[in-house]
Amino acid sequence: MDCIFCKIANGEIPSKKVYEDDKCLAFYDLNPQAPVHVLFIPKQHICCVNKITEDNADAVAHIFTVIPKVAKELGLENGYRIINNCGKDAGQTVMHLHFHLLGGKTLGEKII
Ligand code: 5GP
Ligand code: ZN
Repeated sequence: MDCIFCKIANGEIPSKKVYEDDKCLAFYDLNPQAPVHVLFIPKQHICCVNKITEDNADAVAHIFTVIPKVAKELGLENGYRIINNCGKDAGQTVMHLHFHLLGGKTLGEKII
């Protein structure tokens, strides 16, 4: 499958890794939108939130147990934002489920 994030997960494409275990990977975004901008992906290919099921939801739940640990390690004691874009209207550009972790400054541009 021609998926950039699957290739990052299996090491075919290099990335600046922040965290890795058997289920997920966190790496720095190529085009950072904040002083800290890390992407969290499940190692298994799930295209987007629409494809989360009872069978694969554990991988997603696992990511959300890892995020606070990584955020702490990266010094985001004052808070951070998690963003997921799902589908075309949201501007999802890589069709492999990922959560953006943004922080390291006061994040002003709130939508909600
Ligand atoms: P989306 O717009 O789909 O929510 O986010 C995709 C993100 O992946 C973008 O922020 C983009 O900068 C990042 N990205 C795209 N290709 C690569 C890559 O090859 N390596 C890394 N580290 N980030 C990438
Ligand atoms: Zn993939």
